[in-house]
Amino acid sequence: MKDRVALVTGSTRGIGKSIALDLARRGAHVVVSGTNQEKIAQTVAEIEALGVQALGVSADLSQSESAAQLIDAAMGKFGRIDILVNNAGITRDGLMLRMKEDDWEAVLNVNLSSVFRLVKLALKPMMKARFGRIINITSVVGFTGNPGQANYTAAKAGLVGFSRSVAREVAPRGITVNCVAPGFIATDMTEALNDQAREAILSQIPTGAMGSAEDIAGAVAYLAAESTSYVTGETLHVNGGMYMG
Ligand code: NAD
Repeated sequence: MKDRVALVTGSTRGIGKSIALDLARRGAHVVVSGTNQEKIAQTVAEIEALGVQALGVSADLSQSESAAQLIDAAMGKFGRIDILVNNAGITRDGLMLRMKEDDWEAVLNVNLSSVFRLVKLALKPMMKARFGRIINITSVVGFTGNPGQANYTAAKAGLVGFSRSVAREVAPRGITVNCVAPGFIATDMTEALNDQAREAILSQIPTGAMGSAEDIAGAVAYLAAESTSYVTGETLHVNGGMYMG
């Protein structure tokens, strides 16, 4: 992965930050994107300390124009994007009968539509280079369903169909498009669970533990590797055996 350029959305904390640091350790230069300037600067410094280049870009992906700003910034600094990891995601949980249309739209916008916008723009330089690795972070609940998450699961399942269609379109150009589906991973997103919910989830995981952000980073690195050219349109499940797709 030496000297490849990776853009990782939502890479200032949690799973995204682990992915960014892992790709940097493997020699990639990294475009860090998030919404908090301080956290962006901190992550950029951690990546540069690993001996590769980093660019921090503040981009609120709920705004459609931010996709172009992010891709332009990456192209301006590095002139290429080899690896795009669409990791940024939000939840706005609520039972279907009470779910507001705003909560549906906000989740679909950040978790699915922003991926459409970024992939569309990143494909141009990738097609030219005849190389690209696109990795979309979906979720186990996009496959199993989850009460209270109709919006989130629709977006995450949507990413899988989207990835398969684009994978078929761009395969002849040396570009792969895959998903990683984390199970329950210890991050700020799952910190919000109460003890009862945590116990209920753990009882369904054969390994008996939540996963780590590093577990997801390892799966992303596999799909991002140059040697992984014959895997496309696939979803790699990383969930301790909770769901075997
Ligand atoms: P997190 O909440 O810790 O991090 C989410 C990241 O997305 C943050 O860096 C945040 O800044 C960014 N983000 C959110 N809204 C944004 C916006 N409008 N514009 C730009 N960036 C924005 O979550 P996490 O647990 O690290 O999750 C990362 C990804 O993994 C998400 O897509 C999530 O759905 C998915 N996932 C997580 C788990 C889990 O158990 N933690 C399980 C399955 C899937």
